[in-house]
Amino acid sequence: MPTGREPEMHEMWCGADTSGEPVWHVLTPDKTSTLCGVEKQEESPRRHSTDRHCFSCMKTFQTVVASR
Ligand SMILES: [Zn+2]
Repeated sequence: MPTGREPEMHEMWCGADTSGEPVWHVLTPDKTSTLCGVEKQEESPRRHSTDRHCFSCMKTFQTVVASR
């Protein structure tokens, strides 16, 4: 069970950024798009893990978490 401090409503999704490189986005609570406004696609551009995170998503995510 979540402790209550975890941002359990937000999942990570590995998708392409604006230049097509794989990055980790943060999904909106309804999981249809990302916090930076990218529409989630079913197929990943690559089954490829990356260490990169979407800066826009991270920034928005931190704002959301900080406001709770
Ligand atoms: Zn993003």
